[in-house]
Amino acid sequence: MSNTKYIFVTGGVTSSLGKGIVAASLAKLLQAQNFRVTIQKFDPYINVDPGTLNPYEHGECFVTDDGAETDLDLGHYERFLSVSTSQANNVTTGRIYQSVIEKERRGEFLGKTVQVIPHITNEIKDRMRLLGETDQYDIVITEIGGTVGDIESLPYIESVRQMIWDLGRENAIVIHLTLIPFLAAAGELKTKPTQHSVKTLMESGISADIIVCRTEHELSEDLREKLALFCNVKRESIIQSIDVETIYDVPLKMLEEGLDRVVLNKLQLKPKKALDLKPWNDFLFKFKNPKHSVKIGLVGKYVELQDSYKSILESLIHAGAVNETEIEVVSIHSEEVNEKNVASILNSLHGLIVAPGFGERGIEGKIIAVSHARKSMLPFFGICLGMQMAVIEYARNELGIIEANSTEMDPNCNAPVIDLMESQKTIINKGGTMRLGAWDCTLSRGSIAENSYGTTTISERHRHRYEFNNSYSDQIFDEYFVISGTNPETGLIEIIEYKNHPWFVGVQFHPEYKSTVSKPHPLFLAFVKASLAKKE
Ligand code: GLN
Repeated sequence: MSNTKYIFVTGGVTSSLGKGIVAASLAKLLQAQNFRVTIQKFDPYINVDPGTLNPYEHGECFVTDDGAETDLDLGHYERFLSVSTSQANNVTTGRIYQSVIEKERRGEFLGKTVQVIPHITNEIKDRMRLLGETDQYDIVITEIGGTVGDIESLPYIESVRQMIWDLGRENAIVIHLTLIPFLAAAGELKTKPTQHSVKTLMESGISADIIVCRTEHELSEDLREKLALFCNVKRESIIQSIDVETIYDVPLKMLEEGLDRVVLNKLQLKPKKALDLKPWNDFLFKFKNPKHSVKIGLVGKYVELQDSYKSILESLIHAGAVNETEIEVVSIHSEEVNEKNVASILNSLHGLIVAPGFGERGIEGKIIAVSHARKSMLPFFGICLGMQMAVIEYARNELGIIEANSTEMDPNCNAPVIDLMESQKTIINKGGTMRLGAWDCTLSRGSIAENSYGTTTISERHRHRYEFNNSYSDQIFDEYFVISGTNPETGLIEIIEYKNHPWFVGVQFHPEYKSTVSKPHPLFLAFVKASLAKKE
């Protein structure tokens, strides 16, 4: 058996309390004391993965190197820790049932009635232990999605109870995250919802070891003592998580509250080295004390929902900090952009991102925005669908191929400059079937891409079905509109650049999935720099 220690993070009272950020912050504090830490998320919904959910349902879909389509919390884990996650780090109820049912069909439970306990819970427990048993990690943090008391979370909570029983309390602990609401009329913070949610957890046989309390106001000493008494934990195990201006402050707040200390005590671990958060603090200092500012437009069709483009927004924060630049992101709904208003919408900007996306809605607005950026020398960064739109825009407006389109938008179009990948043509199922995960790309010498990365061989993450149709390359590419990155094996076009312009880059991949606090993405860095130059 491995020596890995397990921390389970559950949530109570309401959803959206930021379990992922608290888990990532704790992991950061432990990593800063030289522990090897990973985080995994268990989501109680029945989709096999979030790849088939639209962003309105669940925010952005994050993609790992090994091609898992995952919950956006994995993005936070990677951005905080700079450690890659994988298929094993995100498990859903759909995935659990799928594998139990496949085992049943293979006859692995022959003669037995297959039940939630023990078969589903055993499958959950196997997955909870999977990363721990690789001996790559000292500590595995497991976030349980949803809220205790939900019907669909029950098998997970039961599995956590069994894991604690199997491993012992010195090897497995539970952190329960709750909300302490402030009743304005009474002028008071209220502990009752937390008492109830801790009680709900107890009904499932789990007593929380640590309670992290989300709050808008400081918790008084009296209130902390009251919570400790009613919730059956020591006073030091009541951890306040007060609202902060940026998620990147949370590790420092958790440090002030002693969360890492309490956790290590309970797990009977000693720090492997004195805590070192200098790189984190340097980043925060630059982020909070910018010398410059720029306005960057983000054109997409889900802009009203903050979480839809989470990784892009965070990548801009990382790149902004390095450039000591505050970035004001102006969200632009692609359906609202037209020939008449485009100039007035984009004129005050210093850079423009056209976001990834699927389907026809808002497409023409994206093309009009690209066109304006190209002609007005506005730094342009097209990501995935944004790159495809840049190709269509150039073909239509510069080369006169007026029918240029993607077969995603018009399956019968006469000039399919963007077309379904050959390998996709026989695929019927929608879930997990795109071109996913990390693929290599070779960069052209002297390109913006090569200058930004400082190398000619890169690997980036993907999530798409359509690609540049190579039978149009002679027609489309010229001395100004160039290919600067291709897949070395298939020749698939990964990056395009427009030379008659200060900074115009379109990428078929998703650079935003690889930007972290300690390793901001080279293309975002270069794009922010170009936007700054545009302003100045
Ligand atoms: N819809 C496009 C495709 O499938 C782009 C996907 C994306 O932006 N992630 O190729």
